[in-house]
Amino acid sequence: MASDRVVIVGAGQGGVEAAISLRQKHFDGEIVVVGDEPDLPYQRPPLSKDFIKGGGQLRGVQLRDGSFFAERKIELLLGRSVTAIDRASKSVRFENGEVMSYGHLVLATGSRNRKLRAPGLDNPAVLELRTLQHAIRLMERLPSLGKVVVIGGGFIGLEVASLLRAQNVEVDVIEAAGRLMGRVVSHATSDYFRAFHLQHGVRLHFGVTVESVEYDSEGCTVLLSDGRPLRADAVLLAAGVVPNVELAAEAGLHVENGIVVDERLLTEDAAISALGDCASYPSVQAGCMVRLESVQNAVDHARTIAERLTGDAKRYDSLPWFWSYQGDARLQIAGLAAPGDQEILRGDPESRKFSVFLFRDGRAVATESINDPGIHMLTRRLLSAGVEITPEMACAPDGELKALLKSS
Ligand SMILES: Cc1cc2nc3c(=O)[nH]c(=O)nc-3n(C[C@H](O)[C@H](O)[C@H](O)COP(=O)(O)OP(=O)(O)OC[C@H]3O[C@@H](n4cnc5c(N)ncnc54)[C@H](O)[C@@H]3O)c2cc1C
Repeated sequence: MASDRVVIVGAGQGGVEAAISLRQKHFDGEIVVVGDEPDLPYQRPPLSKDFIKGGGQLRGVQLRDGSFFAERKIELLLGRSVTAIDRASKSVRFENGEVMSYGHLVLATGSRNRKLRAPGLDNPAVLELRTLQHAIRLMERLPSLGKVVVIGGGFIGLEVASLLRAQNVEVDVIEAAGRLMGRVVSHATSDYFRAFHLQHGVRLHFGVTVESVEYDSEGCTVLLSDGRPLRADAVLLAAGVVPNVELAAEAGLHVENGIVVDERLLTEDAAISALGDCASYPSVQAGCMVRLESVQNAVDHARTIAERLTGDAKRYDSLPWFWSYQGDARLQIAGLAAPGDQEILRGDPESRKFSVFLFRDGRAVATESINDPGIHMLTRRLLSAGVEITPEMACAPDGELKALLKSS
């Protein structure tokens, strides 16, 4: 019956988790997950970490095997895309004109790589790393690559830079801002990773953009905005992402840096939810609308929506957390920092194991841990429980932080 059919648009991390959670919560209506990629649903984080290093083992990236979905009566429509939503008739239209009605629609359309306008960057030779097919292509090209220009000094650009250096590929990273991962991490963490990548032979170029890329039979020349030309065998674009919101916008839903949802992750249409990379939601921690790009965010959104659809509506208030592995440096983030937060170091970056505590109005709002998983887990639990961590506590012995947790 259409009225109890949940259609999920997007077979990524969040869309699949929504389907699985619905079944775990004993939802017994139809579940249809539509994904425009051809592959069985997979996780993206390994693509820039172990997948290529390990020779492209699909089992290490797939979220579940095909039989898992069949056994749970989750219908997967892969290589298919939803092209329109008709809110009046509560139905979606597919690329082939087929129409399917829904009782509830979950938009889990994720994000796509941001394109840059410079001449030559629209060339099909430009490498990217968003999808499994991108990773397979990069892996296939790898043996012929001696020198790569990576555009973007964010998480993915830097993870790829580490991966390439581990294969002895020369790497130039072009970063328009003045520091690495500047949008999302503290100065102390940026500084650590700057030194880390330099030590590993990555050439870093700050405050410059790419003017053009010209190709020839030997490779390409990347012209920087300061006039310097860089020779390379390939260019990899990792300049951030944009949310896939067009479907929602064309259906008249409110879109503003993401599909706007309320604290229950519902759009202004009571029959449509949105989650993950494509959703802009009111964050309890930030006190404003945020749109996050992380596995935790997509998965926890999905679970909250599944709970609501099975009768247990709650405000979404999970603490955001994130990780990025760059070579053997493991960065883990708990909470949400913002520019201007006070930074307090716990431990010594020289020891390669330390954390940065971020404070706003005298209260910890986030921590960044480098090769320091114990402090990450501890502070994640403290921040999740709403325990106040003062600047004095940032450098207190582990035992005192643990005691704080116990007493909470
Ligand atoms: C290389 C890489 C490394 C990453 N590493 C980390 C990490 O270390 N830690 C971390 O927390 N996060 C990491 N992320 C981010 C994380 O993977 C994303 O935040 C997460 O996948 C978001 O899940 P999602 O379900 O919102 O979207 P996605 O996983 O992007 O899935 C959305 C899917 O919907 C499809 N779609 C869009 N429109 C339609 C349509 N109209 N019809 C049908 N299908 C459609 C898209 O093609 C896509 O397959 C990484 C991402 C990448 C690319």
